[in-house]
Amino acid sequence: MTKYVFILGGVVSSLGKGIASAAVGGLLKSRGYSVRMRKMDPYLNVDPGTMSPYQHGEVFVTQDGAETDLDLGHYERFADVNCHKTDSISGGRIYYNVIQKERRGDYLGATVQAIPHVTNEIKDFIRSDLHGEDFVLYEVGGTVGDIEGTLMLEGIRQFANEVGRENVLFIFLTLLPYIDTAGELKTKPTQHAVKTLLEAGIQADILLCRSKVQLGVEERRKLGLFCNISSDNVVVALDVDNIYKVPLSYHAEGLDVQVLKHFKMYEQSPKPDLAKWHEIIKITENYEKEVKIAVVGKYCGLLEAYKSLQEALVHAGIANKTKVRVSWIESEELEALTDMELADKLKSYDGILVPGGFGVRGIQGKIRAVQYARENNVPFFGICLGMQMAVIEASRHLLGIEDASSAEFGSKCTPVISKMTVWEKDGVQYIRPDNGDMGGTMRLGAYPCILDENSLAHKIYGVREVMERHRHRYEMDIAYAGKLHEKGFVVSGKSPDGLLPEIVEIPNHPFFIGVQFHPEFTSRPGKPNPIFRSFIAAAKK
Ligand code: GLN
Repeated sequence: MTKYVFILGGVVSSLGKGIASAAVGGLLKSRGYSVRMRKMDPYLNVDPGTMSPYQHGEVFVTQDGAETDLDLGHYERFADVNCHKTDSISGGRIYYNVIQKERRGDYLGATVQAIPHVTNEIKDFIRSDLHGEDFVLYEVGGTVGDIEGTLMLEGIRQFANEVGRENVLFIFLTLLPYIDTAGELKTKPTQHAVKTLLEAGIQADILLCRSKVQLGVEERRKLGLFCNISSDNVVVALDVDNIYKVPLSYHAEGLDVQVLKHFKMYEQSPKPDLAKWHEIIKITENYEKEVKIAVVGKYCGLLEAYKSLQEALVHAGIANKTKVRVSWIESEELEALTDMELADKLKSYDGILVPGGFGVRGIQGKIRAVQYARENNVPFFGICLGMQMAVIEASRHLLGIEDASSAEFGSKCTPVISKMTVWEKDGVQYIRPDNGDMGGTMRLGAYPCILDENSLAHKIYGVREVMERHRHRYEMDIAYAGKLHEKGFVVSGKSPDGLLPEIVEIPNHPFFIGVQFHPEFTSRPGKPNPIFRSFIAAAKK
């Protein structure tokens, strides 16, 4: 029987519920259980695809092409699972589904109401697309007490009652503030938050308490007493200096044991295999070398916008036993610099990475960063928009097409990057309407890419065909491939039909590669993405 674990949060937001959920999933997986990880967000956007990275951080793309919350990235990385389209839902999507059903007449004239219609939709999501997994974890976004989360909690409460309370566990992530002057941890905010949750009909089973100091017997007793749980189920989530310590820290505090005991599964449970995490910590605490990487991007003010990228660089560093020091450079800042100043700014870096992005702002700065890397033999890695910048740079400076640019930035240019209107997936042709909605019109998810024999890409991956995840509307115009090739700028990976350039490289350069996909989404601790690993290896040289 599948066990359902809901992870809710109280007291304040930003407690790291995503990583906490992912670490719980990772611990269960390390005992050999099959784990599914899901996210329920109360907000009213239908999906995060159209949300600004400034507000909401990165849009994480699943292999089956869903644009989801960045927490799904944590799940994939910590629990080493692939999430699916069906693993995330928002309040907006729930209401959208209900309203569509109402418009179609599916409710046969009934008055459509929050209960049962909206709550049924929530329960349908909880049950949907499951395949006998041992554990399904649902992280519930927001903080208990938020008005917009009310119906989600009601749906979850009903679900727990229907499926049987013995099959459901509620983990409540909370904060115990430490008052320096009194030298005391305060439990009152948690007591109130647990009560608020109880008002929604949900009794927390395990309290996972963020705290900067260890809990004493007295605090555990008090929390147990007031929150109606055994004090063994008060688990401290101590602040750690490295997120990869979270699974080990939870295990040391007995969280996985309490989860299994709740379901009466502890006695027969296999022992956890945590060797991977120990190995990672050993390396991160004893790096042999250090490299400095400049990431020239647009959302550098909010690093959450590049979460997977940051993580992929760390994974690659671990594989190379090298600490990766990243400087986040706003590309716009490079635009007004003289050539001397630009060289001054970039010369101390061992590698330059231009990440993905949207819109015209700052592109000139990115193009200059590419040019600097190309001309000065600095290892270069361009991702999605970063690859497109490399193509534009090469078209301008190697082919002499001065107004070479992307159709994304307006029609007054020679569009060496043009709008992709037709593409194929699994034998189905996708046609992008020219004037449709902004949401849901991109080439999204994992697509195969065929690598040229003996190319850098082939050397990096070691195979001729790879699957990587995409999220883009524009694409290099293959008509320019021949001329660029003559100048030593090579398309080395294409879609299987040969129509869409996927990888570009400069064979006559220490390391220069641009990819139309987002390799950061498939990178995991202990299993770095090959391009990131090679980029850091090149920077290390
Ligand atoms: N804006 C570009 C496009 O839509 C690149 C997208 C990206 O970097 N993810 O094609």
